[in-house]
Amino acid sequence: MRRPKDSLPPPPELPNFTIESDEDELRPVEERHAGTGLVRHDVHLDDGRLDQDAARVVRRLEKAGFQAYLVGGCVRDLLLDKNPKDFDIATSARPEDVRQLFRNCRVIGRRFRLAHVLFGGGKIVEVATFRRKPQDATDDVVDETDDLLIRNDNVFGEAHEDALRRDFTINALFYDLERHQVLDWCGGMDDIRGRVIRTIGDPTVRFREDPVRILRAVKFASRLDIGISPEVYESMVDNRDELARAARPRIFEEISRLLRGGAAHRSMWLLWESGGMGVLLPELSAFLDDDEGTSGAGSRFYKRMSAIDYVTKTRGAPDDLATWCALLAEPLSEYTTGVRDPQTAALEFLDLVVERVAMPRRIADGVRRVMAVLPKLSQGRLGRLARTELAKPAVDTLELDLIARGKSTEMVEALRSELGTFTPAPPVYRDRPPPRRPSRR
Ligand code: ATP
Ligand code: MG
Repeated sequence: MRRPKDSLPPPPELPNFTIESDEDELRPVEERHAGTGLVRHDVHLDDGRLDQDAARVVRRLEKAGFQAYLVGGCVRDLLLDKNPKDFDIATSARPEDVRQLFRNCRVIGRRFRLAHVLFGGGKIVEVATFRRKPQDATDDVVDETDDLLIRNDNVFGEAHEDALRRDFTINALFYDLERHQVLDWCGGMDDIRGRVIRTIGDPTVRFREDPVRILRAVKFASRLDIGISPEVYESMVDNRDELARAARPRIFEEISRLLRGGAAHRSMWLLWESGGMGVLLPELSAFLDDDEGTSGAGSRFYKRMSAIDYVTKTRGAPDDLATWCALLAEPLSEYTTGVRDPQTAALEFLDLVVERVAMPRRIADGVRRVMAVLPKLSQGRLGRLARTELAKPAVDTLELDLIARGKSTEMVEALRSELGTFTPAPPVYRDRPPPRRPSRR
């Protein structure tokens, strides 16, 4: 027979301690992020639009007891009814944990370690461990009063810290696949609804930490066709000179992305208007400033940008070399017209670009060569380029040129089919020494 409760001896006195569980994941989900300022939004993202491989990776991580969310661009794009480029995952699992869970996984990067889960057809799902913003000197951030530039951000952290280290509120939303909820620590959902770009925290601090974010703001505003909050825009303008301090290869890559993102026209206009172009490509910017002096060449320039967008939408982005040709064609032509030696003048002009935005020599050399043969090309002759790796970008360049000038592109198709029968020779990239500065007449 069971004894009534009150007749039981009193429980032993327990020592005063709390159980510190490392296994955050075992706590109920409501508690997991308690005290972090989390707002959960019930949102049912259409399963059919989610990448099934990424969803499988998330589920397997969760099953193994880790937190795992879809994050960043894919959540933003789906909420804005756009097609995401890729699906990234953030998790509490360390890269080594991820590797143990997936056979088809490799850990990449030395300082910034990420797990890549590989699927058929060369597809990669990127799985990043939650990181926080480095805060003190041991975290390897330079903390002189004026120098906020982040040089290393590979310190593991919690989910909310990972959200807050991101650049814009709309890029910091996490999607919980299991519960169909968006996790929001910084008001990103309101900004998605308001279609506005806002930095997480003080824009001046965030742009000084990483000036490339100025170009990212231009990219997202243009590509997603949304606004930039006035305070953030003002700060972009105020801090445009910081762009000169950013890692130059990142600048080249980011401008290339602006060109191939489907909104080259809007991007370049915004880059010019905000003053960023004046820092990165002053020759182009000055050229656009002086629209009257160059007899309306500004509108020719923007037609070239629209041509890129048209091709990107109808056929996919043109070759990078072709988009850079379109970007530089007008000021390059002004710079080289009426000089004794146009080829050397073109080299001189491109050298300036190479220096400022770290345009790879291969591209600079390609731009010079393709622009030089463009007149011949527009008569339907590939000439010496036919058997080189420049043939395809040259035809892409011609196509953009013809569209921008409102001409028929029939010849482009003929050249493409001619090209289809050639196998281009393997590329020979020569890093030439800087040319002697020619004197301009
Ligand atoms: P895209 O569709 O162009 O790939 P994205 O938002 O996915 O857009 P990525 O460059 O792929 O952009 O970066 C993934 C995520 O990493 C971003 O959504 C953002 O949260 C974060 N991120 C990227 N670059 C920065 C940066 N410079 N500063 C802070 N966070 C960044
Ligand atoms: Mg991305």
